[in-house]
Amino acid sequence: MENFKAVQKPIKEGPVFFSEAFKDHEQVVFCSDSETGLKAIIGIHDTTLGPALGGTRMWNYASEREAIRDVLRLSRGMTYKAAITGLNLGGGKAVIIGDSRKDKSDALMQKFGEYVNSLSGRYITAEDVGINPHDMEMVHTKTKHVTGLPEAKGGSGDPSPVTAYGVFMGMKAAAKFKYGSDSLEGKKVVVQGIGHVGETLVKHLTEAGALVTIHDLHEDTMERVALTYNAQVYRGTNLYAEPMDIYAPCALGATINDESLAVLNCDIIAGAANNQLANEAQHGEAVQRKGILYAPDFLINAGGLINVYSEIVNYTRDESLRKTEEIYNTALEIFKTSEIEGITTHQAALKIAVQRIKTAKKP
Ligand code: NAD
Repeated sequence: MENFKAVQKPIKEGPVFFSEAFKDHEQVVFCSDSETGLKAIIGIHDTTLGPALGGTRMWNYASEREAIRDVLRLSRGMTYKAAITGLNLGGGKAVIIGDSRKDKSDALMQKFGEYVNSLSGRYITAEDVGINPHDMEMVHTKTKHVTGLPEAKGGSGDPSPVTAYGVFMGMKAAAKFKYGSDSLEGKKVVVQGIGHVGETLVKHLTEAGALVTIHDLHEDTMERVALTYNAQVYRGTNLYAEPMDIYAPCALGATINDESLAVLNCDIIAGAANNQLANEAQHGEAVQRKGILYAPDFLINAGGLINVYSEIVNYTRDESLRKTEEIYNTALEIFKTSEIEGITTHQAALKIAVQRIKTAKKP
């Protein structure tokens, strides 16, 4: 009887339901397969506006708790990204635990595809960090709920160039608001992470006359990109302390935190990474207090989502690029709202997204 009473106690903590990141999630699916070594988590945050679409990330997480937190934060971000961009999509995301350079196999991706298929279209997947169009082809052998397939296979291809274009548009809008001109000529931009998105962003920036400094975990990538685009490689020990006009986070999330803000001294933050603010409220306000203009990540990195959405609604790539260009005006609108209402740019963007979902929920 004593034990029974103990079980009856209401649960008050845990890594999923009671985590800050879980807020309002509809469904979380844990997927495991010993033969292929698959360990994946699919997070479905909100399907009010449509099926939950979001990429799959493969990363060597230090702990399961870290992987859960990441997938929950990412899937929630996708809901607001689709909402603010005016797409009829919900928010979802998946993470596969492992090193994408060592642990990934076609069989593992196919197994993952079976799990995606089991959700009958409530979740549609695509690429994210550590995943490429070939992997999506493998997933596609088991499910039709995939986007970002190679163009040769009738898909919209790698979404990263469109994402990079949207980030560039968002950065230009931020420059317009901060400096009165959207020219990036002569501005020192530090791009952290020069993967699929970061590299194309470096291309746009150097073409626009910006002075670009790059940093990545992979030395070979840094050397190649520096040579191709005439960028400087950062080799110091604290990238955030580097003097710069614009910081472009294009690696992983949460780089805007107490430690980085203690030394970060720039005018603008505008990059592709999801969930850049370690704590949305606290660090959003801290950034504002420092006089830094933050271009909300889930708004300016929506180009890739727009591109994969084109596979569902049959847009051409030109239409995707046109829609991605609208990020410029939406960003300007958000900067103005933030100034007028005395709220952070992140809050101003969130307000628009949440309102769209609320309106859609009304009977
Ligand atoms: P990617 O895997 O191609 O590139 C990420 C790069 O970041 C890698 O080269 C990696 O070595 C580097 N990196 C990781 N940690 C780092 C660190 N601490 N310092 C420096 N470099 C580091 O991924 P991607 O597709 O270019 O995506 C980059 C970011 O943009 C991710 O946060 C992703 O979620 C986000 N994003 C991507 C897209 C897209 O279309 N690919 C769309 C929206 C958002």
